[in-house]
Amino acid sequence: MTRWRYAAATDVGLVRETNQDAIFADDTLAIVADGMGGHAAGEVAAAMTVDAITTGFLQRPTVEGLLGAVEAANRDVLLDAKANPERFGMGTTVMVVGLTHDVAGVTTPTMLHVGDSRAYQLRDGALRQLSADHSVAEEWVRMGRLTPEEALTHPRRHQLTRAIGVDDNVEIDVMSLHVQAGDRILLCSDGLSNELDPDRLSELASASGPLEETVQNLVNAARMAGGRDNISVVLLEFDDAHEPERTINSTMSSAPPSVASTVPSRPRKSGPRFTWRVAAGMVVLAAVVYAFFFIMHWYAYSTYYLAQDGKYIGVYEGQPNGVLWYKPRLAVTTTYFYKHLLPPAQRSVELTISEPSIATAQKYAHFLYGQWATIHSTPTTTTTTSTASTTTSTTSTTTSTTTTTVKTTG
Ligand code: MG
Repeated sequence: MTRWRYAAATDVGLVRETNQDAIFADDTLAIVADGMGGHAAGEVAAAMTVDAITTGFLQRPTVEGLLGAVEAANRDVLLDAKANPERFGMGTTVMVVGLTHDVAGVTTPTMLHVGDSRAYQLRDGALRQLSADHSVAEEWVRMGRLTPEEALTHPRRHQLTRAIGVDDNVEIDVMSLHVQAGDRILLCSDGLSNELDPDRLSELASASGPLEETVQNLVNAARMAGGRDNISVVLLEFDDAHEPERTINSTMSSAPPSVASTVPSRPRKSGPRFTWRVAAGMVVLAAVVYAFFFIMHWYAYSTYYLAQDGKYIGVYEGQPNGVLWYKPRLAVTTTYFYKHLLPPAQRSVELTISEPSIATAQKYAHFLYGQWATIHSTPTTTTTTSTASTTTSTTSTTTSTTTTTVKTTG
């Protein structure tokens, strides 16, 4: 069972008149939201976001539930801004870590974030930043257009590329966290990370002693460094930890990245989505497959040939050697005995000569039989004294040429 202890604090800082950050922390969920927008709108956006996520996660404490809760927060903020024009343009960052349940009921920490609020992991005094800021300057660092040092002073370092409440579709970074007992996770708004460099953050956040005291020391240090923004800190310390069953590290969204984005978004890592292009591709593929089987079937049964069918000559439908899994099949059994074929005629049958239809195949069988019948009926046409023999032979010939037995037709 993964468990954490926690402490949290938020402070208005030394310059701002209001605190537009909102925080939340309990045994299973930790949130930092850094609101933006005039006339206290940022405060509203941050508070609504915390409210939507705590409500959603309570109902569904899974990765999917947490993702749905952040998407719900985005919808709530957008709807509120539409209903209240004075809050038009409000938005917020959000950094969330929740202990999500997998199908086996095991809980592991999962991080979701949008914007430039950060999460760090502390282990044995070392600090590692877990989140990637969604700001123009940091995106440019990842693209190689800026160095990390240049980004620290770049004029667009505070301009966000993603935030809650800006667009109907929000891209959310989702990451499974691998933690050990004793690890700490620090969540903070930029009011902390902009004021304290990583070494100072590591030193203060790793300090032994009560977590509440550590959190307060971080806030005080940011104030002493200038306190130019609201300062929010949530510190989690893991008592026990389990490895996640499935590891997630991806960006999730209900829509492709906006082409109007100020900078290209990172490539999506989630699975393919069902779009009209996919649907059209599937229809074309199905048509090609259908056409292939249709043509194969037509070709396989487009011809007929003669072959021995027990004692008789049969008319077979199909290619003599078959095509794929389409094997030749008996169409008609004639009444001609195979043994009533002359040796050359039997060899002709063995050659499985193609005929375009059942009728022509039957005609050919009749022709081959006729060769034998001509020889064996010669006495009846030249001997006038053998009446019984003539009658028998004639009857036999008539019967043979007019009777067929249809066994299969399709
Ligand atoms: Mg801020």
